[in-house]
Amino acid sequence: MDCLFCKFAGGEIPVEFIHESENIFAIKDINPQAPTHILIIPKRHFANAPELAKNEGATLSEIFMAAKEIALENGVESFRTVFNTGADAGQTVFHAHLHLLGGRKFAWPPG
Ligand code: 5GP
Ligand code: ZN
Repeated sequence: MDCLFCKFAGGEIPVEFIHESENIFAIKDINPQAPTHILIIPKRHFANAPELAKNEGATLSEIFMAAKEIALENGVESFRTVFNTGADAGQTVFHAHLHLLGGRKFAWPPG
């Protein structure tokens, strides 16, 4: 399967992991939308967050716990977490990933 995040997970394309466990890894977003913009990604391939939840709920939980930890490591106490699911929601990489965004004020509702 031609999946960018599977290639990151498997080391086929090198990228700096800022956090890693048996099940997940985290990288800086290449096109940051906030001073802190990190992607937290399951190592195994699931097309989106609901698929991850259905098949590997413990990993979804681990992703959110890692988000809090990584935010605090970056001096961020107030943060936004986003899973885009589907192209109309802005998903462009169809391997589940949580966006962790912080370091600025965010508007609501989102655009
Ligand atoms: P999505 O649009 O699917 O919710 O999020 C995909 C994210 O992956 C985008 O924020 C995009 O900037 C990021 N991204 C795409 N290609 C790369 C890459 O090669 N390296 C890194 N670090 N991030 C990437
Ligand atoms: Zn994948």
